[in-house]
Amino acid sequence: MINRRRFLSVSSLAGLFPTLSFKTVSPTPNEAPAGGPLVISTWKQPKANAAAQAALDRGGSALDAVEAGVRIPEADPEDMSVGYGGRPDRDGRVTLDACIMDEKGNAGSVVFLEHIMHPISVARAVMEKTPHVMLAGEGAYRFALSQGFKKENLLTAKTEKEWREWLKTAKYKPIANIERHDTIGMLSIDAQGNISGACTTSGLAYKMNGRVGDSPIIGAGLFVDNEIGGACATGLGELVMRTCGSFLVVELMRQGRTPQQACEEAALRIVKKQDYKDIQVGFVAVNKKGETGAFSIQPGFNYTITQDKQTKVIDAPSYLK
Ligand code: ASP
Repeated sequence: MINRRRFLSVSSLAGLFPTLSFKTVSPTPNEAPAGGPLVISTWKQPKANAAAQAALDRGGSALDAVEAGVRIPEADPEDMSVGYGGRPDRDGRVTLDACIMDEKGNAGSVVFLEHIMHPISVARAVMEKTPHVMLAGEGAYRFALSQGFKKENLLTAKTEKEWREWLKTAKYKPIANIERHDTIGMLSIDAQGNISGACTTSGLAYKMNGRVGDSPIIGAGLFVDNEIGGACATGLGELVMRTCGSFLVVELMRQGRTPQQACEEAALRIVKKQDYKDIQVGFVAVNKKGETGAFSIQPGFNYTITQDKQTKVIDAPSYLK
């Protein structure tokens, strides 16, 4: 029902200021960052960064770059925590989570998606072609098919063999930095100074069927605010979700922290409130000026930066030494 009082007040205001126009205060696209175009991703991802950089070199936007970048590990069966070849849940099903966010604050996400190799591109289609932000499970899968994505078997011989081995004891405990879970989160700044981000994962190996982590949750696994910067997370999603980790990092940057300080403070928030002893969580962040930061709870987290055509893999500082 229309709220008549509100309608009247809005329309009478419009009558009072018929020609009033407002200047937008958002940063102009030409406010290119000091550091110029840049790509930063969680973990050791030089090939993904190269694909993102190639998209920027073709004149693509930061959004094009992050999508192209994370598609590399999604298609790589040797990367056993993302996309094709990702480790399954305890029922042997590979279920994928991904999200993407652009410089206008638009976002798209898929959760518990099966049989589709590139969840990040489905997330982008959700953002661009539907009125929604997130699609889950069967609905996400049917939407993907409707958009021309192909049904594929994502469980490889290798991951199936490992899973069958795991079933013999079926012990479940996520272990920090043991290659049982990782996420690629990627942020990019394009030549116009616009920021976008992407995040994609098969989640925790041998998770309960139906479990969804932080990676496809806007504000947890990824957050971008083009006025401020962007952040993404990797590690045990339950800890990240409880603190809205990536949103927190961006909000801390808004309050004046550098990306490094913001990542540290967000990780400390987790350490202060949750049982973190054997658990890994890592954040990476970039601000509008192109300054970057990264921090994790446990040692062993690294990240990849591509800037001025040079790619470096850097060990992130950590809370525990
Ligand atoms: N964050 C992911 C999840 O909880 C996994 C990871 O990054 O290791 O699903």
